Amino acid sequence: MKIDKEMPHPSHPQHKLQLEYTEIPFNCDGCKEAGIGLKYRCQQCEFDLHKACAQAPQLMVHPFYKKCEFRLYHRPPGTLARICDACRNDVVGFVYHCEGCGFDLHPCCANLPQVLDDGERNLYLSLKLSSSCHRCGGKGPGWSYRSECKNYNLHVSCVKELLKESWQAMYLNADKNRVREMQTRIPSLRGTLQNHHSRGKVGKVQKCCQIAAGAVRIIASAILGDPTAIIAAAVGGFISK
Ligand SMILES: [Zn+2]
Ligand SMILES: [Zn+2]
Ligand SMILES: [Zn+2]
Ligand SMILES: [Zn+2]
Ligand SMILES: [Zn+2]
Repeated sequence: MKIDKEMPHPSHPQHKLQLEYTEIPFNCDGCKEAGIGLKYRCQQCEFDLHKACAQAPQLMVHPFYKKCEFRLYHRPPGTLARICDACRNDVVGFVYHCEGCGFDLHPCCANLPQVLDDGERNLYLSLKLSSSCHRCGGKGPGWSYRSECKNYNLHVSCVKELLKESWQAMYLNADKNRVREMQTRIPSLRGTLQNHHSRGKVGKVQKCCQIAAGAVRIIASAILGDPTAIIAAAVGGFISK
């Protein structure tokens, strides 16, 4: 995809948008989801768009739904509440919708890379989970990333949830109990592997420990619209420690 430094956008006709890079999460005024990394911004109006939202073509096909023709809408079509088939979040802004099947995808979800490389392993985007997700323990609907060895799996929705929680915790001025609760629930994110192994429930914990922080971070960056982005120090630190 070509990257323009400056571009007009029909959703913000009054000013041109400039390409910027940020390691601080922003809220996209297109799809209304969180973002990080490259974005298009109108400084004057504090209007931000994910790169994927700003450059979204009118029509798109996706390898998971080969027979579908996705059309870009700036508002969800119809009167029913819609959810994204990839991340299971509500659709309230920009969306790719297939009229034939009713599938919906956020532009960033539609752009999730099929393969992510966290430096140690490849993570593959998959339509359905074959083993349980490490965060929720389920095989519920929605897309996920799995490792080559198929030993670990994470729902896209669960990584989104995780990000939200870590941000909430930060906004609550790092409420100690909440932080501790999160770290207990997601031990692999902190590298407290040893402690956890000695506390029993070995099977589940071992599995859980295989999720490397690097993997979680790169999935999180991709979900936020830019797999190359460095998650802001606070968030990154939260996830990696
Ligand atoms: Zn967006
Ligand atoms: Zn403006
Ligand atoms: Zn379709
Ligand atoms: Zn989505
Ligand atoms: Zn899950």
